[in-house]
Amino acid sequence: MPFKSNGHTVHSFFTGQSTLPGKIIASSSTVVHFLHLEPFSDANGPASSSSVHQTTGSSPKAESSSTRRKVPVVLYDFDGTLIKTSSGKRFPSGREDWAWWHPSVPGKLRAEHEAGKHLVVISNQGDKRPNVRAEWRAKLPLVAAKLPAGVPLRILAALDKDKYRKPRTGLYDILDQVYRDHGLEIDIERSLFVGDAAGRLGGVKGQFRDHADTDLKFALNIGVPFLTPEEYFLGDPRPVYPMPPNGFRPAKVGSLVPPVVPSHTPIARDDLEIVLFVGSPASGKTSFFRKHFSPRYRHINQDTLKSRDKCLLEAERSLTKGESIVVADNTNRNRATRSHWVNLAVKHSVPIRFFHFVCPVDLARHNNVYRACYGPSDEPVRQFLPDTAFTSYAADSEAPVVDEGFDEVRVVNFIFSGTPEQRSKWDLWLLDK
Ligand SMILES: [Mg+2]
Repeated sequence: MPFKSNGHTVHSFFTGQSTLPGKIIASSSTVVHFLHLEPFSDANGPASSSSVHQTTGSSPKAESSSTRRKVPVVLYDFDGTLIKTSSGKRFPSGREDWAWWHPSVPGKLRAEHEAGKHLVVISNQGDKRPNVRAEWRAKLPLVAAKLPAGVPLRILAALDKDKYRKPRTGLYDILDQVYRDHGLEIDIERSLFVGDAAGRLGGVKGQFRDHADTDLKFALNIGVPFLTPEEYFLGDPRPVYPMPPNGFRPAKVGSLVPPVVPSHTPIARDDLEIVLFVGSPASGKTSFFRKHFSPRYRHINQDTLKSRDKCLLEAERSLTKGESIVVADNTNRNRATRSHWVNLAVKHSVPIRFFHFVCPVDLARHNNVYRACYGPSDEPVRQFLPDTAFTSYAADSEAPVVDEGFDEVRVVNFIFSGTPEQRSKWDLWLLDK
């Protein structure tokens, strides 16, 4: 924890009220959306004094952005930013094991509210144990009860490793929609994010080593300034952390590589042949097939057919009918497994070519998150693959060479294709480690 528990703060968690403050708003099953006081009502301070027409619910009665009033929002991480454990432990032992991160927190929240800003927590809560979740939810009204009177607070939390989890922007997208539904707009220019997961490396006297840099990446993804709690609440100077952060982002990859090397010969051919695709999961094999080989070539995939024998049988059928095949799965990763296909080519006296999908592990992991969170709606839904799918592929793979019996070896570099809107999602920081 950034600050040791001072041991002097006494928290009377019993509020004496018959009902605890705040309410849970219906949301996705992997999101908790909690609201304490209505920030849009006139009774709640200057931020809400608005003559703008307010829509209710999720009415699509959108106003053009030129007429929408813009509201600055201060976004906070929760644990290690607004609150800490009162026990001093890393993880809370129950709903009552919390204290403000620093005694100045409530006063700072009130000052922001009085300055016309809306206050919103964006939190990752990945612990799936039911009792831990239940205690966490039960803590929200207890925290709300300790806020300065009349200060609204919205809390959005991601419960799973999906598009809502920071640094992914799903929780911000929910928030953005809330403002639009009220005929308002988040004033991104005057908003900011405060969080303790900055990727501080530690080692410098008095500086902490952060467990992650997801808060910094989230702020970069939505395009607001980022401050650590020490800077924001205590006025400390900016600490040292890598900027841009460590980790993968597409912008770090050069985009001047040709998609296919060598590039002067045709990709698909008229003659009967076998084409072997090799590449890690999420390296672009399926898209490449759709773009260059479908529907003339038969797509054979062991993930679908389950065994190599079935794949070989299907391949024989296709070749006998005069139909070329593309064998595209994650299992042709080494020389021994590829030899089955070389032998089949010899048996049928057809050429066999090899397309090697070269995709760094981090790019494949990034693509994995992208297609599970933001995959095009006209393509089948892709599930999150576990990290082991990528590490085991990398550990087992052997680069193909012509002397394995191939007529040609081509290298395919991953090139993103999609609409500008899809591209803007793919360009985000998507990996949380
Ligand atoms: Mg935190």
